[in-house]
Amino acid sequence: MDTQEFMRLCTHILALVLGLCVGSFLNVVIYRLPNHMSLSHPGSHCTACDYSLKWYDNIPVLSYLFLGGKCRKCKAPISPRYMIVEVVNAFLWLACAILFWAESPVWAVAAAVVTSALICIFFIDLEYMLIFNRFTLMVAAGGVVKMITDGLWLDHLIGGIAGGVVFLGLYYGAITFLKKEGLGFGDVKYAAAAGLLLGWQKFILAMLLASVAGAVVMTVLNRVQKADKQTEHPFGPYLAAGTLIAMLAGDGIIGWYMDLLLGMMI
Ligand SMILES: [Zn+2]
Repeated sequence: MDTQEFMRLCTHILALVLGLCVGSFLNVVIYRLPNHMSLSHPGSHCTACDYSLKWYDNIPVLSYLFLGGKCRKCKAPISPRYMIVEVVNAFLWLACAILFWAESPVWAVAAAVVTSALICIFFIDLEYMLIFNRFTLMVAAGGVVKMITDGLWLDHLIGGIAGGVVFLGLYYGAITFLKKEGLGFGDVKYAAAAGLLLGWQKFILAMLLASVAGAVVMTVLNRVQKADKQTEHPFGPYLAAGTLIAMLAGDGIIGWYMDLLLGMMI
C-alpha cells in the first residue's frame, strides 16, 4: 500500500466514524427541534423514565445493539430510528468521501453536511409535515459551494430559479384550482435550494424520482388504508430522497439514460 492509498483509506475511515457520531447528534436534532426543546440541555435521557444516559449508553449503534433496543433502567423500547439514522448518516458520509474527495475535498465536506440536512428533512417532515428553514439553507449553501467548485454556475442558477418558480406555480395552482394547499411553502423554498445544489439537469432527475416514489407509496397506502380516510401526506421526504440520489448518482444515471436514448435512435 503506497502513501496515497493509505491516506485515502484514512479519509474513508474518518468519514465513517465522524458520520456515526454526527448521526447520533442528528437523532437529538430530529427529536428535539420540532418539540421546541434545547439541543444541548438536558443531556440524553430516556423519554419514558428520564434515566440520564451514561457515556457508555451513548455509543453509536453499539449501545443500541448491546441494550437490545431498550432503556437500561425501565426497559422501554427505543425506536430503531436512532440506529437507522446513525448507520445511514455514516454510510452517506463515506459515500461523499469516496465519490467527491478526489474532485474537491471542500465539496466532499459540504456534500456530507448536505446529506445530514437531508436526513433531518426526511424524518422531521415525515412526522411533522414541516421543513425547517435552517436545513433548506444548508442545502442552498451546499449549492453555492458546488457552484464554485465545479464552475458550472449557470446550470446551478437555472436549477435554483426553475425549482422555485415551478414549485411556486404548483403551490398557487393547488390553492386556486383545488382550493387547498397541495404543497407547503417549505417545499417551495426547498425546491429552489435543491435546484441550486443539483443544477437543472439533476434537479429534473430528482423531481422525477420523488414523483414516482411518491405516487407508488401513496397508491400502496391508499390500498392499505380505508379509501374514505383522506390523510395528508408530506412531499418533503420524497424530495429529500430524490435529491440525495440525484446528488450521489445523478451523473451515472443521466449518462446511462442518454446512452440508452442514443442507442434507440441509431
Ligand atoms: Zn427508561
